Amino acid sequence: MAFAITQTCCNDASCVAVCPVNCIHPTPDEPDFGSTEMLYIDPDSCIDCGACADACPVDAIFPVDALTGPFQAYAEINAEYYTGSDPAAVAQGTSPNFHAWNPPTFTRTIPSDFAPLDVAVVGTGPAGMYAVEDLLLHTNSRVTLIDRLGAPGGLVRYGVAPDHPSTKKIGEVFARFYSHPRLRLRLGVEVGRDVSAEELADRHDAVIYAVGASSARRLGIPGEDLPGSIAATTLVGWYNGHPDVPPDTIDLSAERAVVVGNGNVALDVARILTADPGTLRDTTISPQALAMLESSKVREVVLLGRRGPETAAYTSPELRALTQQGEVDLVVDGSDPRTAQAIDIDTAATPAGKAGLLRGLRRERIDWSAPPPDGRRRIVLRFHSAPVEILGDGQVRGVRVTGAEGAEEVTAGQVVRAIGYRGTPLPGLPFDQDTGTVPHSGGRVRDRQGTYVVGWIKRGPSGGIGANRTCARETVSTLLEDAIAGRLRTPGRRRRGLATLAAPLRGWRR
Ligand code: NAP
Repeated sequence: MAFAITQTCCNDASCVAVCPVNCIHPTPDEPDFGSTEMLYIDPDSCIDCGACADACPVDAIFPVDALTGPFQAYAEINAEYYTGSDPAAVAQGTSPNFHAWNPPTFTRTIPSDFAPLDVAVVGTGPAGMYAVEDLLLHTNSRVTLIDRLGAPGGLVRYGVAPDHPSTKKIGEVFARFYSHPRLRLRLGVEVGRDVSAEELADRHDAVIYAVGASSARRLGIPGEDLPGSIAATTLVGWYNGHPDVPPDTIDLSAERAVVVGNGNVALDVARILTADPGTLRDTTISPQALAMLESSKVREVVLLGRRGPETAAYTSPELRALTQQGEVDLVVDGSDPRTAQAIDIDTAATPAGKAGLLRGLRRERIDWSAPPPDGRRRIVLRFHSAPVEILGDGQVRGVRVTGAEGAEEVTAGQVVRAIGYRGTPLPGLPFDQDTGTVPHSGGRVRDRQGTYVVGWIKRGPSGGIGANRTCARETVSTLLEDAIAGRLRTPGRRRRGLATLAAPLRGWRR
């Protein structure tokens, strides 16, 4: 018997660090790390010790013989990663390239008489918390952890969908650090409003910004700002009870909603809008959002993807879960919008690939001018099609989308633009408008001594929670290199005065 990693794998490699036999790959120092959708356990070398399952922060690892229902597929998915890993395949780059494993080590050497650094970390989402973990567990630094909101957690609290409780569990791992003796938590403190970047830099040896990418990319098409057209960032905040999002931000009075984009956020939105509200009742969903979903008229959500089924942006585990959920129908628009011929999903699609996962689904030619059919709620996947205009006179009534004979009109009362997040400029820090990130080198902010970035504001809005772990390690390593080389702006300065800016813990719930 072996263990297997399943859908909610967060890729943060906590499991790799504790595996005594090096049977989980790719490891952070293997070339595939960061590009595979998840990590995989080799069933042939797993010794069934369960250390990985204990270490997994998102409850994604189970003994193979305990997998039930849709999760059973993960026994094969894990094993498949290891098939054909012969030396020739490795040389061609078509198979995992394993090497002897050693316990993870931190290559930095910090002199034993090095005075503790005072470091401010701005942002309590995953990127900030992995940086905090690194600083607290591997250095003697003292950390001031700041968030502009009254409750910590960032994207874990306000971004992860409420029907993904295992993923939200990683928040419990991060929360352990809030009461660490070398950490002070300051909530309700906003850089640029309550304290300037300059003041923060003056009061600490180093400042790490982990502020994420909180705004939405724009489509740049007519009608984008009509009432009834909202960004997924707003909708995700709505169902997670984000304090900046009014509870009545969405209109669920029409039968069809269109979600533009087909990344994992688009899938989250489609799932929540079509879910049986009863299944969400015991989750962290905002009570106001739940009440609105209970009276929602939405019966069909159309996912509009400009790429094809094999290369769609969502990950296979998330799509697989969608194909296996019982109470909502998943349908593929049967007409290829480029040719008006039947859409080809089967040619060259491997069964485990993204297109292969759609093979068994119903394909239907849809009359977009008509309301969705009666019956169960459904999600319709329309590929190779992008919006050209959002239509409406004072309120969204549809979307003009690319089709075989020019643009066609999809009737809809709500449009959700799930085309990606975007960083926003921070007062006092440089900003690259093209990428929506802060220019940096290895996490060190350009032209700002002692200032660092981590997470989406550093590398752009892609990658799941665990990707921030290696990102944080790089940034903290750069910071420590600078500290040792005497390159920090105010080495030896002590944090002071910040306590007056906000109460340490305003009533937040875990
Ligand atoms: P994403 O993965 O980058 O997807 C954005 C989608 O929008 C893509 O389908 C993209 O199409 C499309 N798009 C962009 N510009 C467009 C335009 N002008 N017109 C039409 N379509 C357009 O972003 P995301 O969904 O916001 O996710 C962000 C990151 O968070 C991802 O790494 C994701 O995996 C992660 N995440 C993970 C989970 C999970 O694991 N459960 C949940 C949520 C988010 P193209 O692909 O053609 O560019």
